[in-house]
Amino acid sequence: MEYLLQISNLEVEFRTYAGVVRAVRGVDFVVAPGEVVAIVGESGCGKSVTAQSIMQLIPSPPGKITGGSIIFNGEEILRKNEKQMQKIRGNSIGMIFQDPMTYLNPVLTIATQVTENLRLHKGMTRKKALQRAVELFQLVGIPEPESRLKQYPHQFSGGMRQRVMIAMALACEPQLIIADEPTTALDVTVQAQILELIKGLKERFRTAIILITHDLGVVAGQADRILVMYAGQIVETGTLDQVLKEPLHPYTWGLLKSVPRLDAVKGQKLTPIWGQPPDLLQHFTCCPFLPRCDYAMGICSREMPPFFNGSRVRCWLNHPHAPTVEFKKGVS
Ligand code: SF4
Repeated sequence: MEYLLQISNLEVEFRTYAGVVRAVRGVDFVVAPGEVVAIVGESGCGKSVTAQSIMQLIPSPPGKITGGSIIFNGEEILRKNEKQMQKIRGNSIGMIFQDPMTYLNPVLTIATQVTENLRLHKGMTRKKALQRAVELFQLVGIPEPESRLKQYPHQFSGGMRQRVMIAMALACEPQLIIADEPTTALDVTVQAQILELIKGLKERFRTAIILITHDLGVVAGQADRILVMYAGQIVETGTLDQVLKEPLHPYTWGLLKSVPRLDAVKGQKLTPIWGQPPDLLQHFTCCPFLPRCDYAMGICSREMPPFFNGSRVRCWLNHPHAPTVEFKKGVS
């Protein structure tokens, strides 16, 4: 299959006063055209750093991509200079950020910001770019687009600002959109509308989407494939059904148990994942989930688990000689 994006053995580190933080540790994955791939994990697991690496937006210093390869459209992204990257960002790859207010410029009208990429990458005149901006606002469900375009970011609600971000990401019809926690700051109803909108893009434009979230509930019904990240590594991958219905890694079990369920009995409590994510200053010689794992065995503290079941899961429980452990979904 021809992939749109191929990431191999990606390594990213940050040099801090406390030492070298290895935020991404040998990440591999691919994205096909039109595919929605969700990257799921707790804060600090490396999912956003992985996404920023694709756009070469790692703040340097202190960050640095120290190894691996990112092939987009057959070309090595990591060999491109800043000028070449500017032609890719907002043109072939769009990005939707968690908090649009930090991305949108408060002193420029929305029209100026939405039309910027169209004028820069597509060479449109101001008039043509404004016409396209009106179409984009209609597409993302912003009413009265002509008058809204004349307004400033503070005059939009959180959900509407996120729609503006989606319109900006879509402006140049990119082949890939990276949505980094696009609904975290929104209430549940608006969250559902935004997720439906993102899903519609895939169907309408065959845009590939990388959806980054800490919430497995968000990806249900949205993603084709899920990658679960922990401590800078991918620990489980699979189709949506595989990961949600037949999860294999204790960390994925924990994530699933901490999602509220409609079929929960009254009075049942959510089960959080106890403990803290590991310190990424550490060098791991064994499973990084060990201190938080209820199923740890002797080998877990001696050797780093390799991938089992093809490249589906990184956990010793999936070794052919490991004891059988049953995962029970839901709340305790
Ligand atoms: Fe738990 Fe061991 Fe699997 Fe790590 S390798 S998740 S410690 S069972």
